[in-house]
Formats: sequence, C-alpha cells, structure tokens
Amino acid sequence: MRPIKTNIIKLCPLVFLLMSCNGNQADLYDKITKVDAHVHIRTEDPAIMELAKAEGFKFLTINTRSSSQEHIDNQMRFAKAVKQNYPDRISYITTFSMENFEDPSWGEEVIRTLQRDFNEGAIGLKVWKDIGMTFRDSLGNFIFIDDPMFEPIFDFVASQGKTVIAHIGEPRNCWLPVDSMTVSNDKNYFSEHPEYHMYLHPDYPSHEKLVESRDNLLAMHPDLRLVGAHLGSLEWDVDELAARLDRFPNFAVDMAARVCHFQVQDREKVRDFIIKYQDRLLYATDLVISGDNFEQQVAWIEKEWRADWKYFSTNEAMESPNVDGVFNGLGLDTKILRKIYHDNALKWYPGLFE
Ligand SMILES: [Zn+2]
Repeated sequence: MRPIKTNIIKLCPLVFLLMSCNGNQADLYDKITKVDAHVHIRTEDPAIMELAKAEGFKFLTINTRSSSQEHIDNQMRFAKAVKQNYPDRISYITTFSMENFEDPSWGEEVIRTLQRDFNEGAIGLKVWKDIGMTFRDSLGNFIFIDDPMFEPIFDFVASQGKTVIAHIGEPRNCWLPVDSMTVSNDKNYFSEHPEYHMYLHPDYPSHEKLVESRDNLLAMHPDLRLVGAHLGSLEWDVDELAARLDRFPNFAVDMAARVCHFQVQDREKVRDFIIKYQDRLLYATDLVISGDNFEQQVAWIEKEWRADWKYFSTNEAMESPNVDGVFNGLGLDTKILRKIYHDNALKWYPGLFE
C-alpha cells in the first residue's frame, strides 16, 4: 500500500497543476481582448460584429485585389459602414487599382487616392498576389512588387507612418504536385482549381522569384513597416521565415489561413520559433464574410477561433481537417499569447482601433 499512496501524493499536485494551467488559459480566452488581424468583412450585418464582441475579438478588415477601383470602392463601403457602427472594434486597410498602370500619371493618382483613404481612416495599404502573378506590362512581362513604378508609393506610405500588408505569391504547395502538398485544404483547392495550380503552369513566375521580389521590397524600404500576410508565403518552413525576420527588422507576419502549416511541422521547432519571434507574429484567420456565405462563415469562424486558441494555449492532442493524424498544442505562456493575439497587432499597425 505504501508505494501507491506515495505515488498518489506525488501525482496529485502535478494533476492539479496541469488542470489549472489549461483552466487558466481557457479563462484567459474569455478575459483578454483578441485581434483577428486579417479578415474581409463584406457585409453590414451586425451579427458578425456581435459575435466578435461576445468572443472578445476585434477585426482588421482588408480591402484587396487591384483589378479595378470600382471593386475597391465596393469593399470600402462595407469597411466604412462597419467602422462607423463599431469604431473601437474594427479598422480597415485600403489598396490601389492597377488600371492604367503604364500611364505617366498613374503613380501620382494612386498617391492622391491613398492620401484620401488615409485621411478618411484607412490604417494601411494592402498589396495582393495579382502583382507578380496576374498583371503584365505592354510587352507581356509580369509586373513584380519590386518594380521601380511602385517605389514612390511605398515611400509615401512610409512617410505617412502607415503599414503595408503584402500577400505576394502563394503557399509553396501551389508549385508542387498534389500528392506532395502538405495540407488537405491546399490539396483540395488546387485539385479543384487547376488554373491556379502553378505546378501545371511553368510559364508563370516561380515561388522563389515571388518571395525574392517581396524581399527586395523590404530591402529597398528599410523604413517601411511591412506585414507579410499568410506567414509571408514562407509557411512551409519556420527556418526560411526566421531567416527573413532576422534579415529585415521591418518585417512581421500574420498567420491568416496558415496555422495548419505550423501544425504539420515539428512541434518543438515551431514552438521555439514562436517563442523567439514572439514580437513579430500576428494572429489572424482570413475570414471572408458576405451576404452570400454568412451563416456558414459565422459557424466556421466561431469554431476556428476556439480551435486555434486550444492549439496555441494548451498541450492537448488535437486533430484538424487540414492535417493528417494527431498533433499537440504548443502550450504557449500567457505573455506570448497576449502578444500574438493582441499587442503585436497594435504595434505593427499604428492607429488600429483609433
Ligand atoms: Zn485575405
């Protein structure tokens, strides 16, 4: 009897400690204000904002795609309307149109429009993957984000103290055959959309070329604050991402739609990476919500927020539809959770929620 008793006595405090740890992190979810730093709110339905309020989330909603000013204006209407109703709970980011790119006055016109948007409340500029993967000049060459035409624009954004969020390129999986892809959502998406599957289109720019164009932009504008959307398109390897974070002090990344890429990498390595770069990582989901998919997206985001929190805050075994097999949570401490869920967003996006 004696050894068993001793074991129980020894085990009890440990069990109690583990339970209280997880309990505390669940409490923390309810207690702290969290930021989802990359969403696309294209509805005025207050239900999504009320859900965010109930879950303790604030939003950074991002206008995106440079095909036309009309498309940007449509997104802007939603952003402004929601900002007006929930000024402390949401901020928005603008973008520019590539229409008439080769006109001599294009750059000046973009700067004029950005100045107006910043004056009206936009806290930054988004540049999207259509730069590098869609737009071509009159000679048929792809236009990249390190093109000299963009330089005055990035100088202007830096001079205004605003942040650029850059989604340049795609996940590296996009350039691999479907059976070599690491996560199920990429496998499914690129099977259904062969037109976007770059492995099938070797005439398009490579993943490396696109990442290099973004790296050049960072190097050319050391005074520009730049957040790489979607783990900066280096989601496949925390070492690759760490190399850029080391090289460019003006660079941070959001995790939008890429948490699953952490979950398929070595847990200890990912955990060490997050601890080391705890000031440079922003939690985000890439929620896209409009009148068309409203119910479905509300149900999805509520689950996503809870699942991601469990992953970052506990050591529990978990499963995800995007990942083969079981993986364990990262068990990050409160200080780091507060940074990635809140403080870093405020630091990298000055003016957020003002
Ligand atoms: Zn997005």
